[in-house]
Amino acid sequence: MERKKTKSRREFISSSARFGMVLALGGIGGLAFRKSTADQWVWQIDPFKCSWCGRCATHCVLNPSAVKCVHAYELCGYCDLCGGYLIPGHSDRSTAAENQLCPTAAIERKFIEEPYYEYKINESLCIGCAKCAEGCSAFGNGSLHLQIMHHLCVNCNECAIARVCPSDAIKRVKGSDPYLMKGDFTAGDGET
Ligand code: SF4
Ligand code: SF4
Ligand code: SF4
Repeated sequence: MERKKTKSRREFISSSARFGMVLALGGIGGLAFRKSTADQWVWQIDPFKCSWCGRCATHCVLNPSAVKCVHAYELCGYCDLCGGYLIPGHSDRSTAAENQLCPTAAIERKFIEEPYYEYKINESLCIGCAKCAEGCSAFGNGSLHLQIMHHLCVNCNECAIARVCPSDAIKRVKGSDPYLMKGDFTAGDGET
């Protein structure tokens, strides 16, 4: 019985993860480049090098920045106590504004099944400040991370953020494969 319940939960999370990823990839893969083409080189963040300094929000030539948070659902622990969502010293684990780490309330928290919660990024509200990515990496699995979104980026000759990035995390990648998202989101069935 317990196994059935566990499997059911895993199936739910797995299907939710795939659905989330379909949305994410649909939102990314389905988007046309603004200025670049698949033949060109474009700028992208290596999420394993990013040190969440905050300059992605303040140094892009665009305002708001072309850098947004993305979520690798396959890596997420669906934690109730989410270091990417809850501000340190939060009064309770709720969606109240004062408990949220994100300065623009761009992260949506949804209850799935005790004790699991799902976190989705509202790209239109995200300013790329990296606070959630830092919190997630400090206390969780690091599933929240930053990427340059190519339907927004104007592909500057020299990326203004790359010039000031203290971690040398921004590099040129092929336009045909323009994202460096964490993990393989389509492999596996969520079973462990
Ligand atoms: S400037 Fe570099 S280290 Fe800072 S948030 Fe952006 S990618 Fe990360
Ligand atoms: S904390 Fe910053 S990077 Fe994360 S979702 Fe909010 S605005 Fe975007
Ligand atoms: S290339 Fe230009 S528009 Fe794109 S992220 Fe860098 S500064 Fe922003």
